[in-house]
This record gives sequence, structure tokens and C-alpha cells, in this order.
Amino acid sequence: MSQEVRVRFAPSPTGPLHIGGVRTALYNYLFAKKMGGKFLLRIEDTDQARFVAGAEDYIKESLAWLGISADESPWKPAENGPYRQSERKSSYMQYALDLVEKGHAYYAFDTSEELEAMRERLTAARVVQPQYNSITRTQMKNSLTLPEEEVKERLASGDPYVIRVKIPRKEEVRLNDMIRGWVMVHSSALDDKVLMKSDGMPTYHLANIVDDHLMGITHVIRGEEWLPSAPLHVLLYKFFGWEDTMPQFAHLPLLLKPNGNGKLSKRDGDKLGFPVFPINWKNKATGETAAGFREQGYLQDAFLNFLAFLGWNPGIEREIFTLEELIDAFSIERIGKSGTKFDIEKAKWYNEQYLRSKSNQELASYIINDAEKEGIEVSQIEAEKAAELTKGRATFPGDLWRESKFLFVPLNSFDEDIAAKKWNGDAVKVLSQYVKVISNFDGEFNAETAKSLLGVAAESEGIKLGKVMQAVRLSVTGSGTGPDLMEVFAILGTQEAAKRIQFALDTLPVIA
Ligand code: GLU
Repeated sequence: MSQEVRVRFAPSPTGPLHIGGVRTALYNYLFAKKMGGKFLLRIEDTDQARFVAGAEDYIKESLAWLGISADESPWKPAENGPYRQSERKSSYMQYALDLVEKGHAYYAFDTSEELEAMRERLTAARVVQPQYNSITRTQMKNSLTLPEEEVKERLASGDPYVIRVKIPRKEEVRLNDMIRGWVMVHSSALDDKVLMKSDGMPTYHLANIVDDHLMGITHVIRGEEWLPSAPLHVLLYKFFGWEDTMPQFAHLPLLLKPNGNGKLSKRDGDKLGFPVFPINWKNKATGETAAGFREQGYLQDAFLNFLAFLGWNPGIEREIFTLEELIDAFSIERIGKSGTKFDIEKAKWYNEQYLRSKSNQELASYIINDAEKEGIEVSQIEAEKAAELTKGRATFPGDLWRESKFLFVPLNSFDEDIAAKKWNGDAVKVLSQYVKVISNFDGEFNAETAKSLLGVAAESEGIKLGKVMQAVRLSVTGSGTGPDLMEVFAILGTQEAAKRIQFALDTLPVIA
């Protein structure tokens, strides 16, 4: 039997989850479900300096909104728990010590002043990237340079120390990334990263590798920003003797700004006027709220579909996929190698498609609720008609009410620009005639009859209908654009339509 696929999404609660993070979660989820495996969620909260209150709840709520549910998580623990690294704190030191014992890690006692002095020295010697590495460590205060006795004494007396990985001086590190192919790095380009901090907390690198191993992770699917760390991770697997169960890596290409110039950042949302967060994020420190897709009116299924296509495609023309269909179609091979430009118009397009595919019955509730907020009562039947009328023009649920409100409130103002251009003698003649015609009409007043009667009215005045159409619209809707006018007539009915037209005839000044 082949091994069960186990993947994880491992966010750090250092702020709101950005859309790129949500995409990473989704791809992990799709892959796990496709392979009949498990999707884990692990909170990587070892960096206490960067901890942000509320960030974990935000992650939970965002994923819940999207229906990306984890098989194992802090909220659904299983035998591999706990799922918060802070709660696993006591387990990491033994792994660091194991590496020290095997000669793959060492104690370092350098003070921050000494580290700073090293950096200055190297900078003065024109070293571009001053690092604590296989060369510079020979000049520093660590268990590789100090006499063994002194190291013991320092440890016994509680001298602050960190544990650093001992990167070999000359070694080719290779990894076969599922998206990028072979990546090769020479170990001389790597530094001796800290594995255990002086506060007894592991760094991301150590905790991440140990936990992926203990949790039986088979595939690491994460953002490309982690690619530079991957060679270190490969070395750590080797040092621990865990090569046989080392997960496969897949580094996802970046999400780019709409113009393709660089990574889409958390601040781009404010600058470019669209959300970059799944749901609203209230910054407790500043009191400011960053906009979320959910609150802006993006539908859960539309947003999910949009997100899946940000860097992946099924290789066929079709673009509308339910979550089940995405799972079925998903494969890591079809994730693009280059960055994906973020296109908010595409997000809107998806929203429109999903909105339109909903039944009028479902859409009616958006209209009823929005109307209620303004103290206006709209019946289910009326709301369904309004939904049918406006859904082809709506991008967000809120547009349905905005576009149909005119049907439910008395008309008392008109678009002045349109009136000044279109409210002419011909319009007045046709509309006066139309009021008479529909007032006397006792058949079924639907879009067809409304139109043919209008034709009759225009013809009896010898005026081409096309010339006065905008004025007709103005008289019953107050504006120059809007949903299908004949459907509007049908919803208003003869009486209301006649009343509105008469009001326009009585109040609007006729242009020459
Ligand atoms: N905690 C890391 C992050 O915040 C996880 C990176 C990884 O998946 O290895 O993105």
C-alpha cells in the first residue's frame, strides 16, 4: 500500500492571512483531498516577538468561511498534537542537542555586541553579505573555538547561548522541487542559522523540520519565499538521519502586483483599492480595518474558484469549478512556474458568474435584507422579480438592491443631465399617448405587451421609438441607464407606470 499523503498549512500568527497564504492553504487542501490524504493545520508561533493577538482567530475564521477544513488542527486535535508550536516547546531542545552530539550543531555564546562587531569587520572588508558561517565561525565564541572546559563552565553557570547549525564548508545541496525541478545550492552560500534561541524557543527552521517529521508530513507545499530556506531544511533532514522520510517540496510561485512588478504586498490593497485579505482585519493597535473579500461582497464559492486559478489551471478552457470539481481536477504538475499577476477584474468576473447562477429565490433574500436595513419592506415575490431583473448587471449581492431599489420607492427626482438632453417635445408626445394607452389596457401587461403598446403610442404620433427611448426610461426609473426597461414596466404594472410617467410629464421642463 502506498503511503498516505499528509500535508500541512503552517501559518505564523504574525498578522492577518494574506491572499497568498489562503491560496497556499487551498492548494494544500486540494492536494490532500485529491490524493485521499490528510490536511493538517499547524500554528507556528515560536517567534514571540512577532506574535499578534487575534491573528490565530483570523486564520481560523478565514478558512472556515472558505470551507477549507483541516483534518487535524489546534481545534481538531488528533494523535500528532499539540498543533501549536508554543505548546510543543519542551520537545525541541532534545533534537537540537542530538545535532550537537552528532557534530552538526554547536553552542554559540556571542553577545549582540560581538555579533555586531563581526558584521562591522566584515562590512569594512567589503564582504557583501556578512554572515555567521563556516568561515566566520572560526573567529567567534562558540563550542567549536572555545576550550571544552570553558564551554562546560559556561553552560553550567547559565551563560546565555544559542545553538547554531554547523553548515559543512563544501557540499552541494540538491533538492528536487515538484514545481521548479532540481535546485542546487553550494553550502558555502548558507549560514549557520540559529536553531535554538537563548530564550529556549526553537527557531522556525528547527521547529518546522522536527514537526513535519513527527507529524508524518509527506509533501511541503508553501510559498516561494521559503525556497531559500529549503537547502537548510534538506541538510537538517540529513543531519537527523531522516532522509528516507523527507517530504517532497513544492514551492508556489509568487502572487504579483496587477502590473507584474513585484510581489503583491499587504499594503497593495489600500493603494490599489481592492482587498488582499480574505476577511476584514481590524488592527487592534491602530484601530484601522483592512478590507476583506468577504465583506466586500465576494461569494465564498466564487472566491475559492478564483483563488484556485491564481497560479493553477486544469489545462482546459472551462473556468467554473465547484470545490469538489477542483479537488478532482487538481494536480501540482499544473501549477505554473512563474508568478501570477493578481487581477481583481477576474475576481469580479467569478463573482458575477456565481451570482447569476443562483436561483432568484436565493437572491431574493439579499434584496429583502438590504431593503429592510433601509426600513423598506419587499415581499418574496417582488424580490424574486427584482432579482431576475438585476442579476445580469450585478457583481456583488449588494448591487441587486441598489439596482432595483427604484422599483420600491416613489420616484421624485430625475437625472438632470439626461432630462436636459432627452426630455423633448417628441418624448412628451409619445409618453402622453402611452399613459392613455396603458391606462385603458386590460390584458396581461408583460414585457412584450409593454413594448408593443409603446410601439403603438410612438406610431400614432409618427415618431421613431428609438429617439425617445431614454426619455421613456427616465420617466419610470429616474435615470438614463438600468435593467431591461420592458421588464421594469412589467414589474411596475400599468397603474404605477402610468403614475410615474404622468409625474414626469407634470414636473420636467421640456427642452426645445
Ligand atoms: N510558518 C511559516 C509561514 O509562516 C511556514 C512556512 C512553511 O510552510 O514551511 O509561512
